[in-house]
Amino acid sequence: MILIDGKRIASEIKTEIKNKISALIEDGKNIPGLVTIMVGNDPSSLIYINNKEKACKEVGIQSVSEKLRSDISQQDLLNLISSYNNRKDYHGMLVQLPLPKHIDENKIIEAISPDKDVDGFHPINIGKLIAGKDAFVPCTPAGIQELLKRYNIETVGKHVVVLGRSNIVGKPVANLLMQKNKYANAIVTVCHSAAHDLNQYTRTADILIAAIGKPEFVKADMVKEGVVVIDVGINRIKDDSHPNGSRVVGDVDFQDVSKKASYITPVPGGVGLMTIAMLLQNTYKAYLINGG
Ligand code: NDP
Repeated sequence: MILIDGKRIASEIKTEIKNKISALIEDGKNIPGLVTIMVGNDPSSLIYINNKEKACKEVGIQSVSEKLRSDISQQDLLNLISSYNNRKDYHGMLVQLPLPKHIDENKIIEAISPDKDVDGFHPINIGKLIAGKDAFVPCTPAGIQELLKRYNIETVGKHVVVLGRSNIVGKPVANLLMQKNKYANAIVTVCHSAAHDLNQYTRTADILIAAIGKPEFVKADMVKEGVVVIDVGINRIKDDSHPNGSRVVGDVDFQDVSKKASYITPVPGGVGLMTIAMLLQNTYKAYLINGG
């Protein structure tokens, strides 16, 4: 069994981006800029935003974080987005989700310029992804494909089974891996909560991607020998043997499934770290698209 080391790959990607930005600075060019917008003070969102800012700093991306009161009006938020759409120094923009109930998330996502949409959630980018055109790909699915690529895991003609159909993971990763190119071209099955007998699908998977948000749900008897397992889940469970009384596990029972897997991502240390690395990569892409 080979452990897919998301930490190492994410660090490689960060170094690559850092080198590209150093070259821009040496040439006296502008540097990529990212604005992150957060509404309210949800503690998890705050951690995500701070991690994103920290990662930007590490590689030399200029970042600004707009932290807004939870009672900001939808119109004021739309006005702020519009002002960043027009700025030349901020090439990428993301709005941290979820948003307070009085704000329509779809309206907000659609207000971000598709050329600055580094989260890849804008309908134009979703449409381009499905059509197989160059697009901003949501960061977690992009990170999954990058891991497969950098570990030379063949996807062409393989049966990929995706557990979960969310708009941020399940659907985009399925669409990404079914595209006709050398890093995809897989036969993809998407499973969700209406599946009657999940095992009949998971047992035929060459590559299993679990994104359902259920701690240690996938067991060894659900997979075949030699399966490649990508565990997207991030679930905090109670564990009194840990100092803070809990620990983070994936959607896959790692101890059990790793006995049968040829490759497997750990949690933590797998897909999670790739998500931020791909955000940096998307920001660099936005810089190029928006003329530097
Ligand atoms: P959602 O809650 O949005 O979606 C979960 C999906 O899983 C739904 O499609 C649901 O089906 C399906 N599902 C739930 N239970 C079952 C079941 N028993 N059998 C089959 N399908 C099931 O989750 P997300 O996609 O947002 O996140 C999934 C997990 O990935 C979470 O643990 C989350 O924390 C983690 N995550 C990790 C990221 C990272 O960077 N590593 C980034 C994003 C998420 P239905 O549609 O029918 O309800």
